[in-house]
Amino acid sequence: MLKVGPRLLHSIRFRVLMSKYWIIKSSILEAIMCGIIGYSGPRKTSTVLLEGLRRLEYRGYDSAGIAVGGKSCTDGKLQVVKEVGKISALRAAMPADIDGSWGIGHTRWATHGGVTHANAHPHIDNSGKIAVVHNGIIENHTALKTMLQKKGCVFRTETDSEVIPHLIAQYYKGDLAEAVKAAIQNLEGTYGIACIHLDEPGRIVGARNGSPLIVGVGVGEMFLASDITAMVAYTDKVVYLNDGELVDIDEHSYSIIGKDEQKVERTTNQITWELGSIEKGDYPCHMEKEIFEQPESIARALSGRIDAENATAKLGGLNLDRSRLLNVGRVKIIAAGTSWHAGLVGSYLLEQVARIPAQAELASEIRYRNPVVERDSLWFAVSQSGETADSLFAMREVQRKGATVLGICNVVGSTIARESDGGIYVHSGPEIAVASTKAFTSQLAAFYLFTLLSARMRNMSREEGIHFAGALQSVPGMVAETLKARDHVQRIAKKYCRAKDFLFLGRGILYPIALEGALKLKEISYIHAEGCSAGEMKHGPIALISPEVPSVFLVSDDYLREKTISNIREIKARGGPVIVVGVEGDTETAALADEFIPVPKTDPRFYPFSMVVPLQLFAYFCALELGRDVDQPRNLAKSVTVE
Ligand code: GLU
Repeated sequence: MLKVGPRLLHSIRFRVLMSKYWIIKSSILEAIMCGIIGYSGPRKTSTVLLEGLRRLEYRGYDSAGIAVGGKSCTDGKLQVVKEVGKISALRAAMPADIDGSWGIGHTRWATHGGVTHANAHPHIDNSGKIAVVHNGIIENHTALKTMLQKKGCVFRTETDSEVIPHLIAQYYKGDLAEAVKAAIQNLEGTYGIACIHLDEPGRIVGARNGSPLIVGVGVGEMFLASDITAMVAYTDKVVYLNDGELVDIDEHSYSIIGKDEQKVERTTNQITWELGSIEKGDYPCHMEKEIFEQPESIARALSGRIDAENATAKLGGLNLDRSRLLNVGRVKIIAAGTSWHAGLVGSYLLEQVARIPAQAELASEIRYRNPVVERDSLWFAVSQSGETADSLFAMREVQRKGATVLGICNVVGSTIARESDGGIYVHSGPEIAVASTKAFTSQLAAFYLFTLLSARMRNMSREEGIHFAGALQSVPGMVAETLKARDHVQRIAKKYCRAKDFLFLGRGILYPIALEGALKLKEISYIHAEGCSAGEMKHGPIALISPEVPSVFLVSDDYLREKTISNIREIKARGGPVIVVGVEGDTETAALADEFIPVPKTDPRFYPFSMVVPLQLFAYFCALELGRDVDQPRNLAKSVTVE
């Protein structure tokens, strides 16, 4: 096994050391639907696992559980504790005398089988000696279950995951790594797994295919987790695993085995970030903290990337030479959810400003559409976590067809960041709240930078470039100014949050912001909301309008303003309440609206940054008012690592 020298955890600031991948100025990590943690070392294992799970909870919170080996395993079985609900419930259920010296833990986002105690991970084999936690979906679980039942295995859960411990047990002949290696040959689907065996103290075996796994290297202790958040309190040295790899860990060492069964030598990466950045600080919720961090997070996304002298952008991680960039004939953007909305803004901007045809595609759709990859096209995959399964698989599909794909990710070292051909890190800092806010505005910043670069290579004059770059540089200040509307938005939210339906309307580059406003409201307040182009309103959505259905309009001061105002009048004529996010000083619109939330005046192409902020606040305060769990809304998980 590869021996790893002792290293101390240092607290740190944003900076970095993963030169292999895109240019990184700040390292920030996290991801995943469901969380996995494994620990081998001298600390009290149950405490380390619970602490890791607490930090992973935002990935999935249907149930949680741990399995440990050690002194308290008196009946010849691993000790397993699980509970439905949050980590606090698991903590409360923890026996006082639990005394494990190595173990694994899991927070679940159920895909197969209800949210029950039995279905909570870890799952064990019939001897009770093998325990497994699993992130992902085993697609051939039905066939495997039938085969295993014929061999006498008794199943106790409805999950797809339970086939894994039974399979490992079939192959087990005294060496857990060998058994796992053989077992995973049978699995179809996606997995990140961690396994332990009672008879092999201190040993944890992990394997990944489509779901992230990272080794945390400590001093006389080792960790295995689905993301760094789980272990950042203990170590700043990590090693990323790739698909098809298996890792064999004990408290002093780790060994990676590649697809070809050969040992893989891989250097450790040093993580540089502050523990405080994943804590709530003085804020009641992560979401509020993250909304208010946006002036700094956008500034970080822009930092060092605007070349004021030449009125262009510097994006060192694209890995594309000038002629390749100049010859881009089309941009295609792959994304899901909020990232797709950022991609839509990007597509409008690239066409309008750089005159490059651009489309944002839903990852889950394009993957199965047998996508056409044109020779001169450049693709982007946008994902906060860099682990979003739909986007990752769509990216791989277009890469197979020859596409060059750039990633726009927040999480350094994530799978999309590693597998893409280059990219732009957005440097938002860890985003813990399930509903994305600051990652969205930083993704926008990445698209504005790329647009500036592309436009300057084409039609944009130096003067226009200076203006565009200047407006971009003023975005953090503009967002800080907009955030002053906090209390005003809170009052409006209090007044309207009992409505059952909302419409969000905008035109042009503000249409994606209307979609984003509706999504935020749905995600955290559970109020039904529909985002639509204000121009489309008359083609259907206007039928919903009544005094009980408020509309939220985004009103710019560009060539589309008059048209949007006409739409407001049409809604008012039908008795619908209207909330407007508009430009300060627009007294005409303010007089027309029932509520008016002003944002500072700027170049209209930059309103997506400021106008999304009151919508984030509005969703947040509606959810608070309705008593929702803002950071962990029902049925959702932070990053969707299953299809
Ligand atoms: N498919 C497994 C289950 O439903 C794992 C889900 C997860 O990734 O949390 O239990």
